[in-house]
Amino acid sequence: MQTQVLIAGAGPTGLTLALELARRNITVRIVEQTSEFFAGSRGDGIQPRTLEVFDDLGVLDAVLAAGTPTPVMRAYFGGEFVGERRMSEPTEPTPSIPYPNLWVLGQSRTEGILRDRLAEFGVHVELSTTLVSFDQDDAGVTVTLAHDGAHETVRAGYLVGADGGRSTVRKTLDIPFAGTTDDSIRMLLGDVRADVLDHEYGYWFADAERPMEGIAMSPLPGGRHFQCATPLGVDVEPTLAVLQGFVDRYSGRTDIVLSDLTWATVWRPNIRLAQRFREGRVFVAGDAAHVHPPTGGQGLNTGIQDAYNLGWKLAAAVNGDQSLLDSYESERRTVAARVLGISSELLDKLVDGDEDAMHRGEETRQLDISYRDPADHGPLVAGDRAPDAPLKDANGLPIRLFDLFRGPHSTLLCFGKAAAHSNEPGVHTYTVVRPEDGVPAGAAPEADYAAGETPPRYVVDVEGHAFAAYRAGEGTTVLVRPDGYLGRRS
Ligand SMILES: Cc1cc2nc3c(=O)[nH]c(=O)nc-3n(C[C@H](O)[C@H](O)[C@H](O)COP(=O)(O)OP(=O)(O)OC[C@H]3O[C@@H](n4cnc5c(N)ncnc54)[C@H](O)[C@@H]3O)c2cc1C
Repeated sequence: MQTQVLIAGAGPTGLTLALELARRNITVRIVEQTSEFFAGSRGDGIQPRTLEVFDDLGVLDAVLAAGTPTPVMRAYFGGEFVGERRMSEPTEPTPSIPYPNLWVLGQSRTEGILRDRLAEFGVHVELSTTLVSFDQDDAGVTVTLAHDGAHETVRAGYLVGADGGRSTVRKTLDIPFAGTTDDSIRMLLGDVRADVLDHEYGYWFADAERPMEGIAMSPLPGGRHFQCATPLGVDVEPTLAVLQGFVDRYSGRTDIVLSDLTWATVWRPNIRLAQRFREGRVFVAGDAAHVHPPTGGQGLNTGIQDAYNLGWKLAAAVNGDQSLLDSYESERRTVAARVLGISSELLDKLVDGDEDAMHRGEETRQLDISYRDPADHGPLVAGDRAPDAPLKDANGLPIRLFDLFRGPHSTLLCFGKAAAHSNEPGVHTYTVVRPEDGVPAGAAPEADYAAGETPPRYVVDVEGHAFAAYRAGEGTTVLVRPDGYLGRRS
């Protein structure tokens, strides 16, 4: 069968997109130039909005089981313990925000979980396979891949470059990648063991006079490794000995012996945004479209959400409806520009020695991302994130709005007993009733929502959270897009 979508790059962006397409029965190939899967911790902070995406993709349980909440950091200045800090104070879940806190998991492990889920749909990453070039016409894209010392020509309906900051796809399209590369700032990062340290905690070993000058060691879940990060004045080789030197110098101790360096790099600030995210049948997503400083932990999360925004639109296009494709760039480029602003501001603070750079504020959780028209100032309108709420199903069993949203469909919520029903294809329709109005006898339990069947489904807003969160009255209808944003409201 012809490849309907070819994805270049199997980082978090490419994997999420492949999953979004595969679960919609789109024929997808995902190629990766490296011969082995990436093994480093890199983007190790999963933001609350990404956890919601993972819930929909069916990987949340695995991500929660593998990861940890953000650790308490023990700060030492000049070798003296000065106190404990957190990047952000944990907050309690609310009815509309079930996963309010940052979750820690090394990037390579998140990628492994996404790959395992993708394999459930029969799709496997093709390693040692490099996208070399491509040409597009009105009907598709002809791509040249290199593997096993030979070239393969593939004809695909669409091509997505999820091929990272140096994206061949973006360069081939000649899309300007405006921004800055600041050679005066560098950061050494590495995953390493330090068995004398309690792995339940993170550490900040710093200079007594300049407490923002030091080395951070954050415990990585699932083993004994820490992700180390230290700003650099001059270029260094990312080796175990160099990291050991920084730990010795900033901790003032000799007993912290590092071992088993599994990944290390010197990061240079490269802050750029592609001028376009689409050219005909070819798209760029993730780092191929925007590169961030690691401050604020936004890069991986923004890439995953690019993929989540693009996946259902691309699936619709493959099935004949191309009307949604343009909205990918308009929605996601605006978000990427804003996110770049947040992470750059935090980087500036870090360079200025401002401790605020280490804190994660509300804006980094990505829950307030909205695709609404900026001129629209309504309380909850098309383009806003669709909130969660606890409900009961027609059998009286607890269920949540997010349970109704989970899957590749859109969801039409009709509030109030007189609400209308819809039989639109690809849309699951529910009437949300107040407890006093009750569910009509014989109503189908929503768990039985079978393909092709659209009898009325009822859910009960037992505590009133759904009506409140959606500012709904009798007869309000809200269409929730497959990616969990409000599509239309009446
Ligand atoms: C030091 C560091 C720390 C970071 N910390 C955080 C953090 O805390 N939180 C966060 O959210 N983000 C963080 N990030 C950013 C995050 O790692 C990236 O944003 C994320 O990896 C982007 O995912 P991606 O899939 O778009 O691209 P990548 O992960 O770069 O994946 C692109 C893939 O494409 C492959 N590829 C490239 N060219 C080709 C080709 N021609 N053919 C086939 N395959 C190709 C590459 O080998 C690669 O595997 C950090 C980044 C760095 C460098």
